[in-house]
Amino acid sequence: VRSLLAKPIEDPKLLKLVQKEEFKELENATFVSLVRNSELNGIIKTIKQIEETFNDKFHYPYTFLNDQPFTENFKSSILKEIPGSQVHFAEISSSEWDKPSFIDEKLETRGIKELEEVGVGYAGKLSYHNMCRYYSKGFYNHPILKEFKYYWRIEPSTNYFCQIDYDVFKFMKDNNKVYGFVLNLYDSPHSVKSLWNETLRFLKNNTQHINENGAHKWITENLQNPSNFEIAKGYSTCHFWSNFEIGDMDFYRSEAYSSWVEHLDKTGGFYYERWGDAPVHSIGLGLFADKSQIHWFRDIGYEHTPYLNCPNSNKCNTALCPKGKFSRFNGMDSQNCLATWAKYEMTDEQLNNY
Ligand code: GDP
Ligand code: MN
Repeated sequence: VRSLLAKPIEDPKLLKLVQKEEFKELENATFVSLVRNSELNGIIKTIKQIEETFNDKFHYPYTFLNDQPFTENFKSSILKEIPGSQVHFAEISSSEWDKPSFIDEKLETRGIKELEEVGVGYAGKLSYHNMCRYYSKGFYNHPILKEFKYYWRIEPSTNYFCQIDYDVFKFMKDNNKVYGFVLNLYDSPHSVKSLWNETLRFLKNNTQHINENGAHKWITENLQNPSNFEIAKGYSTCHFWSNFEIGDMDFYRSEAYSSWVEHLDKTGGFYYERWGDAPVHSIGLGLFADKSQIHWFRDIGYEHTPYLNCPNSNKCNTALCPKGKFSRFNGMDSQNCLATWAKYEMTDEQLNNY
């Protein structure tokens, strides 16, 4: 992995790219951020970087979502930062956001207690469970987002370090990609104890949805982290870190993904455990998408504490993002699952040339 990360990189090389000079019209795409009013400063910091490294050349629209009404101050402060783009602010209906009424409070309380005992973060925070469920099965059907095909998820206080001179959304379309990531991690296995078993239960009656060329090994390989694998009952816990993601929402809207995630929701696992949207997106993609449609954006320098993707490129601010670096903290590399992705799911062509 270290050598892969340290490999020199500019833009992806093999694939069709539309550079800013050739750019003519917007793809059907938007930035998406679920964000709280209290995170205004953090989201503005990130927007400034998105604009400077990418969007001041393209002017893609932004969509901000919230379970609470956005304040006038939030909206006007954001609009000042993005004069060149369309901006949407939208509320999420409580029927989409709140914990469903079928959740059994006894099971929920017991589940939270077990998770807290083994130190799973946010276990007792209801809004976090709602957020993970909403990013897993809700956002792409929000009336505003229904108008769009591609999205780029952004989060407050994340950092972008490299110039991106090509239209990433056109890249997705022209190269038939459904999903792009930068960081690839192992998850806390206790948070997803029954996610894989429930998935197998669904697949038993729905084998027609499985993509034969899916990233199956990445999902199920017991490569570096045997204890994860045991606790998560056969799931490697490898996942694309979804605080950054560029994706095609039509994938989530497909019969395969949506019937599976509906099944997951009915089991209550978003509340009895703490399933994240990252493992849910990732398992869905690994099962139902062709692995060639999933792209590692190794040219995008990105940070969400405590992890980074720092390309070896002179298009990046290497003072802030040292080439090849994965974490600012020692000893945290063990959460990196990129090696499993590279070993099983990348073609030789991708490994050598892009
Ligand atoms: P972490 O990255 O797993 O620590 O989770 P975050 O706290 O960063 O939450 C993920 C994203 O969801 C961020 O963009 C948050 O702003 C957003 N988010 C989390 N909880 C809520 C919530 O209750 N309401 C709203 N509006 N946004 C939330
Ligand atoms: Mn975050």
